[in-house]
Amino acid sequence: MTDAAHYLPEGLPAPALAEPELEAPYWEGAREERLLVQRCGACATWQWGPEWICHKCLSSDMRWTEVAPRGRIYSYERVWHPAHPVLKGHTPFLAVLVELPEAGNVRMIGNLLGDPLQDVQIGSEVVADYEHHNDATPPYTLVHWRIAQG
Ligand SMILES: [Zn+2]
Repeated sequence: MTDAAHYLPEGLPAPALAEPELEAPYWEGAREERLLVQRCGACATWQWGPEWICHKCLSSDMRWTEVAPRGRIYSYERVWHPAHPVLKGHTPFLAVLVELPEAGNVRMIGNLLGDPLQDVQIGSEVVADYEHHNDATPPYTLVHWRIAQG
């Protein structure tokens, strides 16, 4: 995939991991087009974003578990303000909060692909779309979302 095919323009900083030891498995999964979410080994509660302990039972036995890359739009925002200089002229874009029914309804933030002026329906089914940035150092992959067909 060339940079021109990326959803957002070139020049945005690559994701910086606040706690690499904690967050790396998610990003490694995305590189392999696998969606990983934490699940507690003690009480089976799903959790997002990454945490060292389970919010429900306080166990530290958090395990990365592959989940179906499917969800539904819980909320969204059409973003008009260029929050970063390279976004000037590239708004609006659609930020979505996606709920994963097959992972305890945890919610992830992402971008909705397609026409940024499209009508967005709360509850619409979406599927993950992996955007690889192979030329970056280190390479990384962003998880976007698109409306599920059919
Ligand atoms: Zn737990």
